[in-house]
Amino acid sequence: MFELVFLGTSASAPSIQRGLPAAIVIYNEYRFMIDCGEGTQRQLLRSGLGFRRLDKILLTHGHLDHILGLAGLASTFARWEMIDHMEIYGGKWALDRVQVLMAVVFGRYQPPIRVEMIDLKPGVIMEDDAFQLSCFPVTHRGPDNYGYLFQEKDRRPFLVDKAEALGVPAGPERARLVHGQPVTLPDGRTVEPEDVLGPARPGLKFVFIGDASRIDDLVAPVQGAHALVIEATYASMEVDDAREYGHLTARQAAELAVGAGVEHLILTHISRRYAEREVLDEARPIFANTVVARDLDHFQIRRDAPLIKVEREM
Ligand SMILES: [Zn+2]
Ligand SMILES: [Zn+2]
Repeated sequence: MFELVFLGTSASAPSIQRGLPAAIVIYNEYRFMIDCGEGTQRQLLRSGLGFRRLDKILLTHGHLDHILGLAGLASTFARWEMIDHMEIYGGKWALDRVQVLMAVVFGRYQPPIRVEMIDLKPGVIMEDDAFQLSCFPVTHRGPDNYGYLFQEKDRRPFLVDKAEALGVPAGPERARLVHGQPVTLPDGRTVEPEDVLGPARPGLKFVFIGDASRIDDLVAPVQGAHALVIEATYASMEVDDAREYGHLTARQAAELAVGAGVEHLILTHISRRYAEREVLDEARPIFANTVVARDLDHFQIRRDAPLIKVEREM
């Protein structure tokens, strides 16, 4: 399961209801922040997530509405020493701009926290036995924009009934079989992984894209995702503005979801000019499983389940 918390869902400038873009993705022990618009620190506190373990920040691109909050966040981390190390992942242009922000925050002094900038190239960013994070190029104004693909690895379920029937004791023997190694039982019989593992279940796939100006180059990386987050800054009546400023309409975002066989579409980066209803009314006739994210919305993305919105305890 992936958990997704939106901290800010506005485009370009904040509105009364919406802060500037930032989101948190949680998977097992990992916590990733995606973008860090101005005002993100307070939203982190309001969300109840706080600053803990927030050492991995993924940038979709270098526009100011997505990065200005990093200066304040770094300043707080340095002052309160709650985190001694930040990893900021992004394209070169975004990282160059963040570097300038950090120079303002820390001046000529050696920063009390280690800020590591990781210049992304398309491909795998990190992985473990169960999970892989990778990035792919996205077209938007300016160079080096990236979308992020969070993917559980395919897994073969352990068939307990079969293991029981074959007399495999509970314990390390079963763990070895799960890891693909045969085991020899006390009576001399050998049990192969094939005997106790079911057919592979495809891992859960979740894609997060920031600002984008076209969808044709996104169909392949998004293909088959359980959930897709993407911008919907404009409605179709302003399609010319969308084109000029390098953004998508709600219609285009919905067409991408259809074309890529996505299960759930979550729209964000909403302009102050539109009511949520207008965005939904444009997207839903094309792709029914569409929601518009609001600040502090918390979703659970699970295999074989509808998108679950977690209600907040106030
Ligand atoms: Zn933006
Ligand atoms: Zn942008």
